[in-house]
Amino acid sequence: MSAVPPIRPAYQTASSQAEIQANLADIRHRIQAACARADRDPSTVRLLPVSKTVDESRIRMAYAAGCRLLGENKVQEAYGKWETMADLTDLHWAIIGHLQTNKAKFVARFAQEFQALDNLRVAEALDRRLQEEGRSLDVLVQVNTSGEDSKFGLAPDQVLDFARALPAYGALRVRGLMTLALFSSDENHVRPCFVLLRSLRDQLRQEAPQGDAFAELSMGMSGDFEWAIEEGATTVRVGQAIFGSRTLPDSYYWPEGTAGKP
Ligand SMILES: *Cc1c(COP(=O)(O)O)cnc(C)c1O
Repeated sequence: MSAVPPIRPAYQTASSQAEIQANLADIRHRIQAACARADRDPSTVRLLPVSKTVDESRIRMAYAAGCRLLGENKVQEAYGKWETMADLTDLHWAIIGHLQTNKAKFVARFAQEFQALDNLRVAEALDRRLQEEGRSLDVLVQVNTSGEDSKFGLAPDQVLDFARALPAYGALRVRGLMTLALFSSDENHVRPCFVLLRSLRDQLRQEAPQGDAFAELSMGMSGDFEWAIEEGATTVRVGQAIFGSRTLPDSYYWPEGTAGKP
């Protein structure tokens, strides 16, 4: 039987604190190496471990291994974990997936950060709920840099107008931009997405009100974070390379057509 090449690398399931710790150490090492290649200070790159589908016991292992901020794609899943692990009072949550307006109230209640802001109705709903809770929230604006219809996020040419509208929402602390690159193992197709996000960020800094607030570039995942760092990422969102391959298809988390990232 001839071997069919794998569509994606299988990541070994990390099922002990030691394995999670070793994966984290390996990723930090790779972050440092990518920073060295790009002549960047590694302290300017934040690792956001992504814990979607990871159960409570393994999340507690990640906490024991030092993780204090975790990314989750779905609000309900994150909210349930937050409630279950309320004893870990310094464990913070970042929502990194598309949000429906009617779920803004949950995000407002517990999240530290929301990275997928791409419409003003959600901004409005979040702001109102945050005011009620007496909280504020770090937000990143999601941009569709790959041009795929199936991706969430603003078109690049909408970002400046969108940024101009954000100061109206006082409970939202604008931090920067987020993107999912093209789902491809071809560097030549992936890197331009990262380059585009960086150039948009640089343009916002010049032209948007409070442009300095746009500092963060959240880009890069298990399969492409080193390229993202070389192109300026300040946050990399890494799940499978820490916790192991997910069994749920990515289409559960992303719109149809974006699954199958190698
Ligand atoms: C799941 C997810 C990631 C992490 O992807 P991995 O392949 O697990 O590293 C990054 N960003 C978003 C928006 C995600 O939903």
